[in-house]
Amino acid sequence: MHQDIEEILISEAQLQEKITSLGQQIALDYTGKNLLLLGTLKGAVPFIADLARAIDLPLEIDYMAVASYGNTTQSSGIVRIIKDLEGPIDQKHVLIIEDIIDSGLTLHYLVDLLRRRNPLSLKICSLLNKERPRLKNVPIDYYGFTIPDKFVVGYGLDYAQLYRNLPYIGILKPSVYSETSE
Ligand code: 5GP
Repeated sequence: MHQDIEEILISEAQLQEKITSLGQQIALDYTGKNLLLLGTLKGAVPFIADLARAIDLPLEIDYMAVASYGNTTQSSGIVRIIKDLEGPIDQKHVLIIEDIIDSGLTLHYLVDLLRRRNPLSLKICSLLNKERPRLKNVPIDYYGFTIPDKFVVGYGLDYAQLYRNLPYIGILKPSVYSETSE
């Protein structure tokens, strides 16, 4: 285990098992539909890569980058688009692939924006669902795991751009962020 990790919350094997079953469910639900997986950069990259391979259907993948966090562990409430989709989505069934839903601010903004582009349907799949009251309510159609209200890293999730390459989801030692904020 990495020295900055307090506890492994979800192991590599648990992640893969859950992603396989999510992929099977999504394949059933989207059979015969024009599916676009919309990954959010950068956190959802490992998840979308594994999930896409678990969905046995023809599908497209595109990415958007939106930011609501700086180098802190608190949501700033400010969401901005850094990278947009490559094309229109009005002929597509869009499934947003997120790493984690915390306050809900990021997704709420994204859903609002995408609805205005008239996709055939718009649903949300998040690997992690944090157990705490949302500031904005967004319905999650598919999720992998509910986790406690702790700051986690790994499998795409970062702290100050680090730890994204850990193959598991772990709780970061609080001493790591108190050191860097000093
Ligand atoms: P929300 O807008 O729902 O509060 O936060 C969504 C975004 O905040 C996620 O896509 C992720 O980038 C970041 N985030 C929220 N909670 C955590 C966490 O526990 N760990 C990390 N690394 N990022 C988080």
